[in-house]
Amino acid sequence: MASRLHGLGTTIFAEMSALAVATGSINLGQGFPDTDGPASIAEAAARAILEGRGNQYPPGPGIPQLRRAITDHQADWYRLDYDPDTEVLVTAGATEAIAAALLGLVDPGDEVIAFEPYYDSYAACIAMAGGVRVPATLRPPTGSQPRWHPDLDALAAAISSRTKVLLINSPHNPTGMVLNDAELRRIALLAIEHDLIVITDEVYEHLVFEGSHIPMATLPGMRERTVCISSAGKTFSFTGWKIGWVTAPAQLVAAVRTAKQFLTYVSGGPFQYAVAEALRLPGDYYCELRESLRARRDLLAEGLARIGFGVSVTEGTYFITTDIRPLGVQDGLAFCRALPERCGVVAIPNAVFYDDKDAGAAFVRFTFCKKTEVLDEALERLAVLA
Ligand code: PMP
Ligand code: GLN
Repeated sequence: MASRLHGLGTTIFAEMSALAVATGSINLGQGFPDTDGPASIAEAAARAILEGRGNQYPPGPGIPQLRRAITDHQADWYRLDYDPDTEVLVTAGATEAIAAALLGLVDPGDEVIAFEPYYDSYAACIAMAGGVRVPATLRPPTGSQPRWHPDLDALAAAISSRTKVLLINSPHNPTGMVLNDAELRRIALLAIEHDLIVITDEVYEHLVFEGSHIPMATLPGMRERTVCISSAGKTFSFTGWKIGWVTAPAQLVAAVRTAKQFLTYVSGGPFQYAVAEALRLPGDYYCELRESLRARRDLLAEGLARIGFGVSVTEGTYFITTDIRPLGVQDGLAFCRALPERCGVVAIPNAVFYDDKDAGAAFVRFTFCKKTEVLDEALERLAVLA
């Protein structure tokens, strides 16, 4: 195996989902909904296949209808103006967008600062690009800050003359933190002061329960240096379709596209037609999705707190990060490996998303993007821990 892959191992999502299948456990680990997205959108994909749209290679940057739907979405939701011909790129999920952005913009030795805990593909893709990962550790809730929050002084201190990119994720997986206006402003000022590119992973942009999602590119001076990444997986509950996208100034999109064309070239032809329709769903769709998830967030958060987990507020995403120390346990990795045998539930140990393993050891993530009855059953099983 190439040395740049050393230490990357098997992604925790594959390990834990396999464990769920092998033990017949309820999988509250990997984040995928157990209810598919709208039938009308599934029908649009089927129609595209049967009518011969997208069954052969679509255009490299994505089909024009989808690129236009993406720029309309950015304009309607955030008043962001992008050119569908030069400032949009359709990718194989956000995962490929992250990989292509890092491969397209990072030179060997460049430093990339990411908040930890970080989504696991960040570390892998920074390594594959030959970059150097520099973590800035998010702070757990305290008495005066009852939410996960960034330490922006630590972020500022992490910037060096080698820093090229800030890789930001809000709403944040796995903590559920949503960066607020003041935090985003400070990050933007740092990026401008040090002339950094910001790659911003906004795949949970429509899953926000407290406050609101503010895209990085809307901050003063940021549009020209921001590569915004999103995806249809979470917003439309079709995680298997893997349609993602990048919006950024033409020069940055060109760099990402150059890498992307030699990764997959193109993907998901018929699904691109369906996602173009999905992006035209009325506002009610987004509202119903959010409210349905909010109810399930509250159900799982209250249930876990009753059992004795330390539960922090999830402002966005469909994950709850818990502190297992109130249960008398310290090691989240061992806890998650034993949990399926012990009570038939799978969760994700946040430690795998940290360089500073001690900082992450005691935190465990559960997803609530499952049917109410599945969450009820999981809570019943977890009650043995009380
Ligand atoms: N970024 C984050 C923060 C994620 O949680 C995920 C998983 N959905 C992705 C990127 C990858 O998204 P996709 O499935 O569209 O590749
Ligand atoms: N984004 C989802 C999660 O964090 C799924 C990730 C994956 O399977 N790669 O659980």
